[in-house]
Amino acid sequence: MSITQTPNVKSFETRLFINGKFVEASDGGKFDLISPATGEKFTKVSEASEDDANAAVAAAKAAFPSWSALSPVDRGAYLKKLAPLILESHDELAELEALSMGRPVSNYFESTVAANYLNHYAEAGIQCLGTSSLNTPGYVNMTLRQPFGVVGAIIPWNVPVLFLIGKSAPALIAGNTVVVKTSEKAPLTSAKVATLIEKVGFPPGVINIISGHGPTSGNVLSHHMDIRVLSFTGSGRTGRLIQAASAKSNLKNVILELGGKSPAIIFEDANLDKAVKETKHSIQWNSGQVCMANSRIYVHESIAATFIEKFQRLFVVESGDPLLPSTNHGPQADEIQFKQVQAFIEEGKKVGKMTLGSNPSKHTIGYFIQPTVFLDTPEDSRFMKEEIFGPVVAINTFKDEDEVVAKANDTEFGLYASVYTKDVSRALRMAKKLEAGNVGVNCTSPTGAWDMPFGGYKGSGVGREGWTVSIGNYLETKSVLISVDDV
Ligand code: NAD
Repeated sequence: MSITQTPNVKSFETRLFINGKFVEASDGGKFDLISPATGEKFTKVSEASEDDANAAVAAAKAAFPSWSALSPVDRGAYLKKLAPLILESHDELAELEALSMGRPVSNYFESTVAANYLNHYAEAGIQCLGTSSLNTPGYVNMTLRQPFGVVGAIIPWNVPVLFLIGKSAPALIAGNTVVVKTSEKAPLTSAKVATLIEKVGFPPGVINIISGHGPTSGNVLSHHMDIRVLSFTGSGRTGRLIQAASAKSNLKNVILELGGKSPAIIFEDANLDKAVKETKHSIQWNSGQVCMANSRIYVHESIAATFIEKFQRLFVVESGDPLLPSTNHGPQADEIQFKQVQAFIEEGKKVGKMTLGSNPSKHTIGYFIQPTVFLDTPEDSRFMKEEIFGPVVAINTFKDEDEVVAKANDTEFGLYASVYTKDVSRALRMAKKLEAGNVGVNCTSPTGAWDMPFGGYKGSGVGREGWTVSIGNYLETKSVLISVDDV
């Protein structure tokens, strides 16, 4: 198997966007981008130095007074202009993601979601409201909700534009200015969006987008004394570093959206075909590189044989060149991800039973992993406890509700859990008992609700994001106490 398709996009932005201008790194630093489909280097991207990260924060700080003084309607006008430009760039964004992290163009959807976010937040400035109280005799008291100042955002590589806009838009409409650091694995789509931000004509410094590695520019942002809120999506390991950096620096507010080990529980009365189709999609989409992917499936023992047979039959993909519209399964994002998944598969073989994926990959190049199923994997193994982040699923059985709740909850993660049953009382009992920030009943991830908060229990995160809650993450609350003369 070789990679044949030539991308339509021939040139792309690879520089840093600081204070409204595209610039090379101050020390000339660059890092290679390697296509995960071919293993070949295809471009170099600016590596933000510590000075560059500091310059981006300084630009955001300087832009804050005039940006925060605008009315939300005027701030929203900029967001509104950006939305259609992102939609128009759909094909280019899809190709850029295919090139850098291997997502098939056929799966690309973030342009639509990003435009929806922008249109929503453009109109949502009216939510920036305080409260008032007459409950203390002789006083009129009130709260003011005010922007923090400079907001930092550090984003991962699996759906970058979603996180770029999902974090920036609410922070901006609330009156903050923003510095975003993109992932070294997928910086190109965010750099493309920076060109659109320039086209819209946002005031310089209001939004800055830098590329580079975490220990350099990311570390500067997490320790920065002028960043008052940092919104992070990524691994638990980095999330802990960011939490510690906040404690060591200025106790900045930290929002952490981290990993998962999401269980899907299939009871004997479930709509089996729906459960099979959806749980398969959950672990296969984006080659399993999704924080909420159902990487553990628990099936009632009475239907296990049928479920497993149907699941394996469906867990077949068209893997190949992510630039081809017929491909629905791309490679893992890079060599590190590929080796991590392979190591888990080797470990799984020692403790469980691998029933699919044992065929050698048809790919001679690139970081492809075929869909893989493990059965009867011991619950206390690392395989069942840690995030694999690949198209690898463990299917185990259970006898009753108490047993499966104990198994599902026996992990430090708690991002998403799902239950398939026609028994409403059982579904609601399970929804209460499962330790997860999101519970799907007769549906599973990546299904989400646009008007519900998203986030994790336990080690899957701190705080919540979403249309109804994100703006609140970026507003300080000040109580103002007014003593009123009675004469
Ligand atoms: P990662 O933690 O390796 O990297 C995320 C970002 O943090 C990148 O921009 C990286 O450069 C930066 N970073 C790395 N080290 C840093 C440091 N010392 N200081 C500051 N920044 C640093 O995660 P990843 O591999 O990019 O993403 C995959 C992980 O993200 C998975 O664990 C996945 O479950 C999680 N994720 C969670 C959600 C969610 O909403 N809960 C969504 C998507 C991905």
